[in-house]
Amino acid sequence: MTVTDLTAVVTGAASRRGIGRATAHALAATGWNVAVLDLDEAAAKDTADGIAAAHGVRAVGLACDVTDETSVATAVDTLTADAPPVGALINNAGITSPTRFLDVAGAEWDRIFAVNVRGAYNITRRLAPGMAERGFGRIVFLSSVSAERGGGVFGGVAYSAAKAAQLGFARALARELGPQGVTVNSVAPGLIDTDITGGALEGERKEALLAGIPVGRNGRVADVADLITYLCRPESGYITGATYDVNGGSHIH
Ligand code: NAD
Repeated sequence: MTVTDLTAVVTGAASRRGIGRATAHALAATGWNVAVLDLDEAAAKDTADGIAAAHGVRAVGLACDVTDETSVATAVDTLTADAPPVGALINNAGITSPTRFLDVAGAEWDRIFAVNVRGAYNITRRLAPGMAERGFGRIVFLSSVSAERGGGVFGGVAYSAAKAAQLGFARALARELGPQGVTVNSVAPGLIDTDITGGALEGERKEALLAGIPVGRNGRVADVADLITYLCRPESGYITGATYDVNGGSHIH
């Protein structure tokens, strides 16, 4: 199996400073063709064009709201018609919220789960059968250190619960799809410098968080992208059902 004949799908990959975009670039740098799925079609196409130009692979950018089954089906149909077979799926699309539990309303709780959990279900449910049929696949979930240590970075209870749900999802799926050559793993990043908090994590709060990170800095998107790319290699086929921390030592367990 060579990755140059396959497509890696990265959800939520159009965010300019995001983990998904960095991951799509890192995968393309090792030869993967990529599909950039995101809410914003223009940004997804722009990201894909940049990847194709930088790495000489096939890259497609598609509008996709992972919470909407019809939107996911449309994007997957386009991919099936126009791109090499899907060999990897990075469940990266995610939203967070710092709302305290005693203040959180049901609608906000549902929204966090809709994107992080149901969204991952919608796209994985569509793409996993093809991987199983072809006997090769790599699925990676973007969980979080918040799932392991119970928040304490930025996200509140809803985010920590949704990110923990992803860990169980990935582990059970790894068990089910292992016989078909499909590995399923999670990465659990600590604080990574992106726009997910919308600039809400600055000043003293950020200083305090940095003080608790043994390597003395917050994470960079490349730190996470490298790890995901490693897990997607054909040679990584004996790694499955695992959760990989990438947190600078901020949570050691
Ligand atoms: P980001 O906000 O930069 O990017 C998230 C992307 O997801 C955006 O491009 C957004 O448009 C997209 N998205 C949101 N809802 C969507 C939907 N319904 N359908 C399709 N796309 C959607 O965030 P990031 O920091 O790059 O985070 C990426 C992932 O990593 C998330 O799952 C996040 O929870 C996780 N994570 C981030 C950190 C961190 O510190 N940045 C830490 C741990 C885990």
